[in-house]
Amino acid sequence: MNCAANHARGRVGFSSRAPLASRFCFDSQRRRRMTSSLTTKRRRPLVIGILLLFAIAAAPQPAWCHDEVRLGRMLIGYDIADLPADPTPQQQIEAGRKQIDVAREDDPGLDSNAEVHDYFNEIASRLLAASGQKPLFPLEVHVSSVPINNAEAIPGGQIILYERMFDTTDDESQLVSVIAHEIAHELHNDFISFWQDYKENKDIDGPGGVLAESVKVEGAADETGARLMYAAGWDPNGMVELFKRFHKFGVMARRGRPDYRSSHPEEAKRSEPIEALIGKLPRKDGLIKTSPRFDELKQKY
Ligand SMILES: [Zn+2]
Repeated sequence: MNCAANHARGRVGFSSRAPLASRFCFDSQRRRRMTSSLTTKRRRPLVIGILLLFAIAAAPQPAWCHDEVRLGRMLIGYDIADLPADPTPQQQIEAGRKQIDVAREDDPGLDSNAEVHDYFNEIASRLLAASGQKPLFPLEVHVSSVPINNAEAIPGGQIILYERMFDTTDDESQLVSVIAHEIAHELHNDFISFWQDYKENKDIDGPGGVLAESVKVEGAADETGARLMYAAGWDPNGMVELFKRFHKFGVMARRGRPDYRSSHPEEAKRSEPIEALIGKLPRKDGLIKTSPRFDELKQKY
């Protein structure tokens, strides 16, 4: 596909509109590029609400030529149209690296923040070690300073996290809940089910459609993520707190409207299965809520 055709069809690179669940975001509505002028820490709670209101108007500049692969309105990925329906792990790894190449064009500073990169990777390693599972491919955790409030699991073990996560979390357990959710997507290899939907041109809406499937996939990633946190020694209540926080700011951003149709579990109720799960887990003393390192980096970023 040539660049002109691609640009004519739509925005290239990171979409300002939520790309639904296809890239397995932690939250379907918060993959937003935002202006940086309002983002002082003092004004943060209000800023989150305001920015969500206006983020849709703040379109990123299309600057690259990549072939967007979409299933209806869902963005599946870039430059992967030739991937077979049942790709090998190696093909998935290569597909994931292509997505990182695109992300690096959008954000040339990707992974340049060594201290946050190391901190996030250490957390990911501890979660993965506690899982007792071996993913099909090595996990690679990337860190972007682009002001987006989300996280993404991409095919082939690639995960993109954002410095902005320090803004949207109050303590380490909340931050770890995001990383654990993305690792769960990789352990479940959720890309494949959506990729197969794309190959079959499955309907997005309606019962049994891709959106309904996505809600289940996201709920399963929440549950596995909470279990990973507990196994690795972090307090899974951090995930519950974060979902409640998202809901609070989500309602503000929607001017009081309580929820929306989404690729993710219903915002107001997203914490409920995790609360039920926590109620069944054996008591474990000393679960981590936060750490001096988290506080130090939150102050800095
Ligand atoms: Zn997710």
